[in-house]
Amino acid sequence: MEKKRLEQLKKKLLQKQSDLLHAVSRNEQDGRLADEEATQDVADKAINSYTKEFLFHLSNSDRNLLQLVHEALERIRDGSYGQCVTCGNEMNPKRLEAVPWARNCIPCQEKEEQGVHV
Ligand SMILES: [Zn+2]
Repeated sequence: MEKKRLEQLKKKLLQKQSDLLHAVSRNEQDGRLADEEATQDVADKAINSYTKEFLFHLSNSDRNLLQLVHEALERIRDGSYGQCVTCGNEMNPKRLEAVPWARNCIPCQEKEEQGVHV
């Protein structure tokens, strides 16, 4: 994958992560966490030792999404980003544009949604 594209997707993932963590601070109605700088701090903490504590405040779907975003960022770090975690094929760039945290290529995703475990 092109480095420039990867950077863009990484930015999107970080933005999404920050949005989700923003939702947490809104839920807590904690004014201290409301500003941008504090959110960055929250994001750092969430990635480190407070992950579970923060995840506790999220709805199930947000928690799943945050986990997917986190995993995608891990894959960027270890260089496997852009490959389907199930079959290992390169994913369609358009799919990654639309869903940067996607783990599976479309055929594998469809199988998973149909409850076929591969
Ligand atoms: Zn696949």
